Amino acid sequence: MKINLANIKKAQKLLNISECVAIPTETVYGLAGNAYSDIACKNIYKLKKRPKNNPLIVHYFNFLRLKRDCDFNNDFLKLYKKFCPGPITFVLKKRKKSKIKSSVAAGLNTVAIRFPSHRVVRAILKRVNFPLAMPSANLSMSISPVNALDVADEFKKNIKLIINGGKSKIGIESTVIDLTANPKILRPG
Ligand code: AMP
Ligand code: MG
Repeated sequence: MKINLANIKKAQKLLNISECVAIPTETVYGLAGNAYSDIACKNIYKLKKRPKNNPLIVHYFNFLRLKRDCDFNNDFLKLYKKFCPGPITFVLKKRKKSKIKSSVAAGLNTVAIRFPSHRVVRAILKRVNFPLAMPSANLSMSISPVNALDVADEFKKNIKLIINGGKSKIGIESTVIDLTANPKILRPG
């Protein structure tokens, strides 16, 4: 599918003013907001009716941009080289200087991060100066959407932009691996 640059720019504009937008990823559709903005992060929880103790995954364009926010180790580097960008999420220690809002990580000193591969989300990540906090674009407890129409049904007029990127290829959530100690799979994807 061809990328619609006008939509990418619209998403960029809205994200820059802490609005949330729904965008396609290779796993499922996501509800994205600026992970460095408390307003945006709190709005994600509100829109989804998500319990505040369930932390969000933060999405990055690449490793270079992650370095200022998280500590990493050799396990991470090996898995990054082999599997990223793609449907794999890592739990890492948050750096003291990290700009990620504590509302994203439910107050924990760790944070879950991912490098999505879908062209639309990558085009947006490349253009903004912050990573995206992005859970699936559904109300808490309902099924993760794999197409734009289902996102529209779920949120009606409560979000200003839903980008249609066709059906999500993978259709299930990412694998989550904790790398803060011995690597451990927290969620199979
Ligand atoms: P969802 O956004 O619904 O796909 O869920 C994100 C998943 O990542 C949940 O299963 C969370 O428990 C997990 N997660 C997010 N942040 C952390 C963290 N800091 N430590 C452990 N698990 C996390
Ligand atoms: Mg979800």
